[in-house]
Amino acid sequence: MGQFQRWTFGNAELIAVQDTWSRLRPDYFFPAVDPAGFAAYPQHLVDNGRMVLSHTCWLISSAGKTILVDTGMGSRPLSGLPVEEAPALPSVLVAAGVSPEDVDVVVFTHLHFDHTGWNTVDREGAPTPLFPNARHVVQQLEWDYWLQAGADAMAASDRAAVLDPLVDAGLIDFVEGEHAVTEQVVTLPTPGHTPGHVSFVLTSGGESVLLLGDAAHSPMQVHEAHWCAGADIDPELARASRRMLFDRSASDGALLASNHFPFPGLGRVVEADGVRRWEEFE
Ligand SMILES: [Zn+2]
Repeated sequence: MGQFQRWTFGNAELIAVQDTWSRLRPDYFFPAVDPAGFAAYPQHLVDNGRMVLSHTCWLISSAGKTILVDTGMGSRPLSGLPVEEAPALPSVLVAAGVSPEDVDVVVFTHLHFDHTGWNTVDREGAPTPLFPNARHVVQQLEWDYWLQAGADAMAASDRAAVLDPLVDAGLIDFVEGEHAVTEQVVTLPTPGHTPGHVSFVLTSGGESVLLLGDAAHSPMQVHEAHWCAGADIDPELARASRRMLFDRSASDGALLASNHFPFPGLGRVVEADGVRRWEEFE
């Protein structure tokens, strides 16, 4: 089963909650990168050069609210991305002391299938919201993009299973741009991976934590910020957003919390003599 790990920053709490994980060939994940380039990063690869992609959601306690950032792969079999263990977000949340009913707000970095899967579970044959007491906060731009015919069907959420039931239950709040979830948690638009992709900034106890979403997928990108995942819809914009986040970490010491770096995926960009590397936070 997935794992969780908890940190406290001032009066806010941050928990990395692992839904499941995948083990992939990096040339499959970064199709535009010369495969010879991966050999330079053995510290970020396992098993004859494969990369580990965690599927991590983040739970934040801030200003009396319990906030979940993304909902992982979900309970239904998925063809697009093989996983190493059955997705287990609800059980891992309970192990961390949080029941689905306790979640006050679900925020989405974007609406790819691996970030919306546990929005619902099947009960008596019908997809039913798993977080019934939560407002589900969605960027309007992102929602509108996935309504278009021709939006990448492989990466899209199963609308009937995980989005429509939230609409029917009146649980979605549509927002635009820099929405404040609490006074400590604000939205930072980081488009490129998808058009309405956003990150979140948690500021508490003298620390800033940038919750990346899919602005980056592997610590190798700290060294090679121009590398783009095949799933990045607008590679130039994705690179600009990624560089902006890495620059903030390198210059201000902001922590980065990733949805896909090997678990738990909390760390910093450290720069020495013009060379950047990923340093995990203890
Ligand atoms: Zn993702």
